[in-house]
Amino acid sequence: AKEKGRGKREFFTGDMNAFTLERLKLEGFLRKAVQKGELEPYFQPQYCLKTEKILGFEALVRWNHPELGLVSPMQFIPLAEEIGLIDEIGRFVLFESCKQLKRWHDSVAPYLSVSVNVSGRQFQRLSFVYEVKEAIETAGISAEYLHLELTESTMIQNVQYSISIMQELRELGVRLSIDDFGTGYSSLSYLKDFPVDYLKIDQSFIRHLSDDFFNTSDAAIIKAIIMMCEGLSLSTVAEGVETHEQMKLLQEYGCHTAQGYIISKPMPACEASEFLRNFLSV
Ligand code: C2E
Ligand code: CA
Ligand code: CA
Ligand code: CA
Repeated sequence: AKEKGRGKREFFTGDMNAFTLERLKLEGFLRKAVQKGELEPYFQPQYCLKTEKILGFEALVRWNHPELGLVSPMQFIPLAEEIGLIDEIGRFVLFESCKQLKRWHDSVAPYLSVSVNVSGRQFQRLSFVYEVKEAIETAGISAEYLHLELTESTMIQNVQYSISIMQELRELGVRLSIDDFGTGYSSLSYLKDFPVDYLKIDQSFIRHLSDDFFNTSDAAIIKAIIMMCEGLSLSTVAEGVETHEQMKLLQEYGCHTAQGYIISKPMPACEASEFLRNFLSV
């Protein structure tokens, strides 16, 4: 009872009330945002370190609110997950990304891929595989060009169920990535059981990567991950690459793909198209 009382008092502090109010406001705004079409996928290029070509884009959702301005997905995705709006948002990003990919296939480059983030809740829904199939068919793209990014925490919620869904997705032809690798608590032994194609090395490992003699631990971890992936026939993607030096080192270590501000920030579809055209013409 004592424990309960303490918890209760904490809940009703002034700070908490302000926080709750802010949140309620944001929640209301977000519900309207989805209806009013204030959400938009941005696209960040994925660059092949072996062939020096653009392989595709990762779709990253943006919320452009008339008063609040550009709201970060780090702020609204967790909220959307809690209040159940993530299903609608996830579906929107998935369908829009596939449609945009079709435009690129028809106009600039028929080999590009698009990588879409999938939240845990979205993935656990019974209709998810059907939704993916529908998105591919509606857009008229070939399934192999759609990549889905799943985090470790999503996959280990219910391992057997997750593996079966991942297998169904692979049967459709879709490719799968493990996102934010190295930040979760999952065991390495799961890696051999999950039917995935790509592993994204989290940007926290890349951030301090440099030629600096005194910082060798991140380099050691990155090299070990790349070697392990080679053994498992997984392709590696480094996220958050910001400097030429990092890119050069990753290339040296045998990392396959780089993504980060050094290549480009995420951009609206029209800017991404222009980026592609410029890139292809040089
Ligand atoms: P994430 O999937 O790990 O995406 C990478 C994040 O790093 C993105 O942040 C991207 O803009 C940022 N980034 C890319 N290159 C660099 C770099 O060189 N330096 C730095 N410092 N950051 C870089 P963003 O767009 O704010 O998205 C944050 C997170 O929100 C994503 O992390 C993802 O977990 C989630 N998210 C975004 N879009 C979606 C979506 O459509 N669905 C779901 N479920 N989650 C999404
Ligand atoms: Ca991602
Ligand atoms: Ca990531
Ligand atoms: Ca992340």
